[in-house]
Amino acid sequence: MVQRGIIIGRFQPPHRGHIEVSKQILREVDELIVGIGSAQESHTSENPFTAGERVLMLTRALAEAEIDLSRVHLIPIPDVNNNAIWVSHVLSLSPPFEIVYSGNPLVRRLFKEAGFKTRKPPMFKRKEYWGTEIRDRMVKGGRWEELVPEAVAGVMREIKAVDRLKDLSKTDYLLR
Ligand code: ATP
Ligand code: MG
Repeated sequence: MVQRGIIIGRFQPPHRGHIEVSKQILREVDELIVGIGSAQESHTSENPFTAGERVLMLTRALAEAEIDLSRVHLIPIPDVNNNAIWVSHVLSLSPPFEIVYSGNPLVRRLFKEAGFKTRKPPMFKRKEYWGTEIRDRMVKGGRWEELVPEAVAGVMREIKAVDRLKDLSKTDYLLR
């Protein structure tokens, strides 16, 4: 039987820590599901990139790291803002899986209560490989390229991500 593990994050943006942890998980399971959370969000300071842009960044970065893409499934997951039904929401969108990898205690708790095996994966250079730090450096004009895979930096240039983040930091309002 094929054993699958899932990791869920917002990947705003994907960074070197995410790629390291993906490699690690793929040593333990046959296939990896990457759940792209808050998929409906984009163009805010916390969530600057669309789900499609995050899919592109992750696909390119996984390929660059020589990860066999036939072993990886990328699934955008919109928020439901209801913890009690979130696990069934994820199950409705994802290929079947047995193991849930997450650094987030709430995510582990919700899946554990639903009967799943949960594991806390190791963190790699967390003070730098951290989405909040990367977005902050991009706005302030700091060195961020070294914290993301080259392929991610390439997509960021293509979509003019620094300009977007700088604009969002000035006008972080929601269009209603
Ligand atoms: P943000 O600051 O935007 O929350 P983040 O770096 O925490 O960004 P997420 O998309 O929230 O990125 O990450 C989701 C999951 O990815 C985490 O729960 C954790 O399991 C894993 N992860 C994040 N950073 C690292 C890292 N440096 N090393 C290994 N795994 C990581
Ligand atoms: Mg996080």
